[in-house]
Amino acid sequence: MIETGAYDKDKAMEKVVDLLEEVQLPPEFADRYPHELSGGQRQRVAIARGIATNPRFVVLDEPTSALDVSVQAEILELLRELRETHKMAMLFITHNISVVSYMADRIYVMYAGKVMEKGPKAEVIRKPAHPYTQALISAVPEVGRQMRRVVLKGDVPSLVSPPKGCRFHPRCPVAIATCGWTADEVAEALRRVLEARYPELSQRARLRPLGELELEVKGLSASELKDVVERESEFNRALKSIQSVSEEGGRVMVRLTKYSEPRMVEVARGHLAACHLLSASS
Ligand code: SF4
Repeated sequence: MIETGAYDKDKAMEKVVDLLEEVQLPPEFADRYPHELSGGQRQRVAIARGIATNPRFVVLDEPTSALDVSVQAEILELLRELRETHKMAMLFITHNISVVSYMADRIYVMYAGKVMEKGPKAEVIRKPAHPYTQALISAVPEVGRQMRRVVLKGDVPSLVSPPKGCRFHPRCPVAIATCGWTADEVAEALRRVLEARYPELSQRARLRPLGELELEVKGLSASELKDVVERESEFNRALKSIQSVSEEGGRVMVRLTKYSEPRMVEVARGHLAACHLLSASS
């Protein structure tokens, strides 16, 4: 404050004491070093710094994730009070659905850098439309609620080369043929299925992706491969994208369904989600 010339030394100290009071810390904290403060007190000081310039818009990135649950509640309460008294808008980034439901008016659910669903808080939490949001909400225990827990398999993808089509498709429990499967993914899925369940076929099969949507298979007949795909596609969603399997010049060619990125579809007033299943039913 002094460096920018906005305040002289005395005025700056007055402002510091006012800010400490706003975040419910006593004035003597102005002379303390960070290592003399608890985690919750440090977070209050960070909030005081954030509001020092009377901003109209504040971005809070996981402001309570490193704190004990009881301290979390105090900090959230403080943020709500400050939001009202300073008439600020807040963009709150968190992985904690309970925190979202306490703080938010509107929710944007993101996965791998893309918005999957957005809308008013009550709508999104009570009637999640996107399979990813449904999985997130199913993980929050609630007394008396009978909701099947959806456990997502696999890891969050690399953003250096994110999945094609819908970025959630490799982990989506209800993915369909057009969700974004590529020849690399289908070849990997076929290899795993053959190794685990058809060892004799696995020893003969040689799979080679040709571009994004074609796969060459040697060592198996078209009917052997079709049989595997028919039996396994119910349990392995990547195989659902196989559109045709045909014999061509001594090799088997596998062609995949063309994929696309799902667009946002309005499922209720102001509540939108990006999923092919919703586009198909709208
Ligand atoms: S578009 Fe819908 S069904 Fe397909 S992977 Fe994404 S969330 Fe799942």
